[in-house]
Formats: sequence, structure tokens, C-alpha cells
Amino acid sequence: MSVPRDLGPKQPLGYTASLLQRAAEQRRDEAALAALCAGGQAGVYAIGGEFVVLKRTGGDLDPLFTLDEARALGATSELVFLGLLAGSGRFGIGLEPAAIEPLKTATNLVISDLRSIAVQGLVAADHLAPLAEAKALLHWHARHRFCSNCGAPSRPVDGGWRRDCPACRTQHFARTDPVAIMLAIAGERCLLGRQSRFAPGMWSCLAGFVEPGESIEDAVRREIREEAGIACGRVSYFASQPWPFPSSLMIGCHTQALSHEIVVDRDELEDARWFDRDEVAAMLLRRHRDGLTTPPPVAIAHHIIRAWLENEHGLD
Ligand SMILES: [Zn+2]
Repeated sequence: MSVPRDLGPKQPLGYTASLLQRAAEQRRDEAALAALCAGGQAGVYAIGGEFVVLKRTGGDLDPLFTLDEARALGATSELVFLGLLAGSGRFGIGLEPAAIEPLKTATNLVISDLRSIAVQGLVAADHLAPLAEAKALLHWHARHRFCSNCGAPSRPVDGGWRRDCPACRTQHFARTDPVAIMLAIAGERCLLGRQSRFAPGMWSCLAGFVEPGESIEDAVRREIREEAGIACGRVSYFASQPWPFPSSLMIGCHTQALSHEIVVDRDELEDARWFDRDEVAAMLLRRHRDGLTTPPPVAIAHHIIRAWLENEHGLD
């Protein structure tokens, strides 16, 4: 079997290419935010932890509520300003955990999670990036209610992009956590791994958090050495993807493997091994004879792997 020359049309990377203008200059303008909320023009995403509330409209699902509709869903927490779309405001509103359960039986609503929404295409693709923005920001609020400097309750400001401590005046900014996700390449083979939580038969890139004081390149080499015992050299940046589970930024890279003998860290991985191009192409196209697969196009791993198959990466 040879590698198909045509892997089919490229599919979009999930949660990217937002159409919103973040309009950061409006975050601290309370009058402007109030005006955007008034008049029923604001579009609001309602999110409670991992759950996203969707509205049935005819045969479609719509993730946008008016502010009044969103507040009528149940007890809410922060309202955060996501940005502007064609001049109207887009917001995210947090629902308290107890508010979600009764919504699950409402006939005009569907309660789903952001992975399912993306993989199953439950809403128009334009909503995925702002939903990711809302989910990550609301999660940050839910986990940062108290000042990490003095322990006093903090309060949201700047449209939800910062929390200030009234006791010690420390400002806390919404954060995202960088994760390096990488494909090690050795000529005509690449290294894929499996975690026990993966769907049966799915293999993917290795990944791990970038640590304080560490470059992306060093994180790539360290993770592969730790998880699979492979030494790597050059690292080439490919693309990045917000991954709001709960608040990561996936930084996709290819890297040149310098050694070949795999030593799997069984605490991190169920298995890791080398795959050749034919096998990986079959996995990506869902034609593998044993049913092995790579992640779906919503995930950056799919695109990192495909770029290797098509020689569209920075390592020669
Ligand atoms: Zn404080």
C-alpha cells in the first residue's frame, strides 16, 4: 500500500479563526458594555462547567441566547465580554452547577459539551472559537475567586478579563496554559502514543505542559524523552490551537528524532511506537485494516500528523 497522494480536502482546525473582534479597549468602559447589553442585541453563550446550553430553533441548534433568556436559565455567575461581531456584543455567562441539571429535561434545550459540539458539528462552525473563549474564561473565574496573594475574595473587572483584590490591590489576569504537542519524525516513520483514556484504537501525538522557565523547544524535547525515551534535535513550530479543557493553548510542533529505541513511561502512556507513512495515512483516512485511527480534524494532532504525511513541515 502506498501513501495516497490526495488525503482529501483539509478540514478546519477546531476553536480557531474567530470572527469576533476582541475589542479590548471596550472592556474597561462600563457604559459601553452596558450599552452592548441593552436592547436585546447581545448574543450570550451559556456555560456551566463542562456543559454548554444549546437552544432548539426549528431543526437546528443555536448556542446564542439573549441576555434575558440566559439569565432565565437559572442561577448565573460571571458575565464576560468576548468581543464584537458586526457591532453587536458577544458575551459568555456562567451557570451555577445546580442550574444545569433541571435544564437537561427541557424540551427546547440541548445540554452538550464543547468536544461533542465540535466533533459532531452540532452548531455552525463560527461559534466554536467564541465558545472556547467563553468556556476558558468562565472556568478561570470559577477557579480564581480568591486572591492568590492574600486570600481575600477578588472581584471581576474589565469585562471579565481581570480580577482585582480589594484587600491587597493585586491584579490577577485571565491566563492560559501552554502545552507542547509534537510529532517526532525519523525519516519515513513517526512516533505516536496512546493514553488509556483514548478511544480504542486511537493513536496521537505526544503532549505535555510547558514548564516555568522552559522554552517550547526544550519542552518538546523533554516530553518525548520522558514519555518515550527518544532523544530529539531540531524543533519546528507548526500551528497553535486554543484547547479549553480547561484552559490550554496547544502549541503544535514537529521534531527530528535522533534515537530510535522507545522506552515507554507507563505512568503517562499506555504505549508508544513508530508508524510508517502508509499505516498513518490509512489511520488518518479511517481505512486501517485493524481499525487504528488518528484524532479527528477538530484536534491539532490531526493536522500535525497530516502535515508530516504531506511534507508540509519545517524539517527536511
Ligand atoms: Zn489580595
